[in-house]
Amino acid sequence: MKYISTRGKVAPIGFIDMFLMGLAEDGGLIVPERIPTIGEQELRAWSGLSFQEIMMKVFSYYTNDEIPEADLRKLIEDSYAGFASSDVLPLKRINGSLSVMELFHGPTFAFKDVALQLMGNLYAYVAKKRNEVINILGATSGDTGASAISSVRGKEGIQICILHPNGKVSRVQELQMTTVQDDNVLNLSVNGNFDDCQQIIKELFADLPFKSKYHLRAINSINFARILAQSVYYFYAYTQLSEEERAGGINVSVPTGNFGNIFSGYLAKKMGVPIKQLLLATNENNILERFIREGVYKPEGFRTTHSPSMDIQIASNFERYLYYFCGEDAAEVSARMERFKAEGQLTFTAEETARIQADLSAYSVSNEECLETIRKYEAEHGYLLDPHSACGVAAYDRAGARDGGAFVSLATAHPAKFDEAIRLIGIEQKFPERISELFDKPQRQVVVDNAKEEVAARLVDFYNISDSH
Ligand SMILES: *Cc1c(COP(=O)(O)O)cnc(C)c1O
Repeated sequence: MKYISTRGKVAPIGFIDMFLMGLAEDGGLIVPERIPTIGEQELRAWSGLSFQEIMMKVFSYYTNDEIPEADLRKLIEDSYAGFASSDVLPLKRINGSLSVMELFHGPTFAFKDVALQLMGNLYAYVAKKRNEVINILGATSGDTGASAISSVRGKEGIQICILHPNGKVSRVQELQMTTVQDDNVLNLSVNGNFDDCQQIIKELFADLPFKSKYHLRAINSINFARILAQSVYYFYAYTQLSEEERAGGINVSVPTGNFGNIFSGYLAKKMGVPIKQLLLATNENNILERFIREGVYKPEGFRTTHSPSMDIQIASNFERYLYYFCGEDAAEVSARMERFKAEGQLTFTAEETARIQADLSAYSVSNEECLETIRKYEAEHGYLLDPHSACGVAAYDRAGARDGGAFVSLATAHPAKFDEAIRLIGIEQKFPERISELFDKPQRQVVVDNAKEEVAARLVDFYNISDSH
């Protein structure tokens, strides 16, 4: 398997080079040259396999034996050993048709751990194998940063710098990042919002001399390895349901921000998982809902919600979807992305919008509806949702299953992580110990202005100081 760019100007590369490149060097996103399909019979044979075993199977289609089987097995085993649930991602029945797949039992209590624990280990593996320095640089709305830091703290050959918007992440998210004392970790707290942080990162990665001098590597969902790791739980969810429940295909609801998680579902569907409805749930930042319902992709005013990890206007994975939507025509994707850059929006014809709606359906969930959903599920089912997962379930409540059948809503964070919202409806929760112990620890972070130059200067200091150790 080789990997290419959605803009068509990157020569085909192998798995490890793809993993290290992150964002394609022509400004596009990396995709596999072709998506392998897994037949019905093989998929049926995967029933009863563990999450780790299914991950082995899926990755074997993509890694070209660049990672020997025994090494890959160990990387996968190590990555999920720290999950608090023995089946890694438990599927909980809520009512007759709805199940919730809990993706949040990793070290930082959000679904990001599923992919990032593996990516952290993979970076350490590559650093050693190629004898390379790896400097991970990323922006976070809260969860990615905490998860990425947890995945590489203290690891040899790797340093990590994460930008987060000052005061705009939850208390627990902030503590998960800033209470880490390892010297290979730098937290920059930017006076701006998430989109500002992401913009600074984009500019630093676009500065190719800077990027190559300091060996910058990406951890966000522009990395295809992350998308691939996330696609595995769509297979796992399918295999966990009975033959009867999954007959005719399943429905999946996905709390969405950067379009990474749901694109993983789209990829799983292309690989062969019978998903008959992929339901995209957004909060009040509903650019993606408007794209799917009206055929207009246009960022609008930023809103603060109870689900900060979904407070995103520019969805970095949108271009991957556009690539498949345009029949894998890189010239067409480049032309449309140029138009987006020039005009600040993209519009689709009625016929095109109908095609989008065949792939995806969408609901945006208001702040009030989000809290009401948490209250209702706690009262009626004794099940406490976090505000992100509640958006997914609220979308299920409104859309329902397409032609019946099982419905799986992805739960993307543990409620303790977003206690600010849960308290608003008067629910008191007991924190897991790994969260309550954070409150007593000292914090390490540097507050910086929303300016690329200042961030770059801090980075150079960080890299030079660490070099001399
Ligand atoms: C990141 C995140 C999301 C959004 O996922 P995307 O891949 O960005 O669409 C949803 N919920 C939680 C808790 C998250 O951390």
